[in-house]
Amino acid sequence: MRFIADAMLGRLARWLRLLGFDTLYCPDISDSRLLRLAREQDRFILTRDTHFLNVKNFRDYLLINSNNPFEQVLEVVEALNIKEFKPGRCANCNGVLAKVRKKEDVRDMVPEHVFLNSDTFLKCQDCGNVYWEGSHLKMFREKLCDVLKGVRPQN
Ligand SMILES: [Zn+2]
Repeated sequence: MRFIADAMLGRLARWLRLLGFDTLYCPDISDSRLLRLAREQDRFILTRDTHFLNVKNFRDYLLINSNNPFEQVLEVVEALNIKEFKPGRCANCNGVLAKVRKKEDVRDMVPEHVFLNSDTFLKCQDCGNVYWEGSHLKMFREKLCDVLKGVRPQN
């Protein structure tokens, strides 16, 4: 499943990428261009805007209600009945993440304590950003897994 998020949903787009979903985020394009991209690339539109309700013969969008990015992720996961995800996309640029084979290669790219305490690193094939477990990414995914198992987040 691939997505395109509208201008109001930048945080949601980043989180969906961290969960492994190919998600375009184009804050500066018009609704008609957004719609065209969605159709051309077979992407599901995520929007806070009711404009798409009026587009004829177009159903591949989800109207997001919450202002809170975590609740927005839940809305997507629940509405589309998503059951699993794997890390795989760069939060910054939507590039594909690949496992770093030699830990030594990222020594200069991450904080020293991270380098010493982590063994698995992922690197974006497009922008070079490096990710590691133990960051907020892991906590976020665990929190979301709990929610999917029926454990609601505590506020
Ligand atoms: Zn990237």
